[in-house]
Amino acid sequence: MNDTFRHQGLRRQLVDLLKEKGITNRLVLDAIGKIPRHLFMDNAFLEYAYQDKAFPIDCEQTISQPFTVAYQTQLLDPVKGEKVLEIGTGSGYQSCVLAETGAKVFTIERHRPLHDATKKRFESLGYFTIKSFYGDGFKGQASYGPYDKILVTCGAPEIPAALVAQLKIGGLMVIPVGDILAEQVMTTVLKKSEKEVEIFEFDKFRFVPMLQQKAR
Ligand code: SAH
Repeated sequence: MNDTFRHQGLRRQLVDLLKEKGITNRLVLDAIGKIPRHLFMDNAFLEYAYQDKAFPIDCEQTISQPFTVAYQTQLLDPVKGEKVLEIGTGSGYQSCVLAETGAKVFTIERHRPLHDATKKRFESLGYFTIKSFYGDGFKGQASYGPYDKILVTCGAPEIPAALVAQLKIGGLMVIPVGDILAEQVMTTVLKKSEKEVEIFEFDKFRFVPMLQQKAR
């Protein structure tokens, strides 16, 4: 694995920047300090890997900005041993951040090439416990549910009912909701009972859209 002292130094600077931007969760900061983000991107962008920016990956998708990853993970507040379902595997970076916090990670991607490449990446980086699926995140992954937490990393037009159904009672979903071509509001959905959810809204973000069905 090609991870140099220079990469490690740049990661420490990124962690300091995220602290300045208000990220306080130790597990999240440690995960970002540890994971070689440059190995999740195309070579052309290697030198940018530790800037706080989103970057293009395959299939016209993006690896989320580190601040966004940290913000979502901090809201999700994963606890060791919890089952977490992620929608939008993409590069797999967010999945690895979740795995580093001790969560049991399940992740779904609708683009086959991304799913295939990222599955291999998990293995080559030693993340053997992450289970990845090629499928439609609107449907979730009921066979492995219910989940303690669900994290959606694409901009959703609404809160998918199937995902609420796959949360445990007391479980939490973090999902950006809004106009999929403009801005979305970071939203938390706490499942209080089979019939009742409590919803809170946070800051605005711009994600790539959550789209129906597997891509062809
Ligand atoms: N978590 C990723 C972010 C990737 S961008 C990372 O850390 O790199 C969001 C991803 O969501 C894209 O790869 C996109 O293809 C995927 N996506 C969009 N709609 C989806 C859906 N319905 N089901 C599964 N994945 C979806």
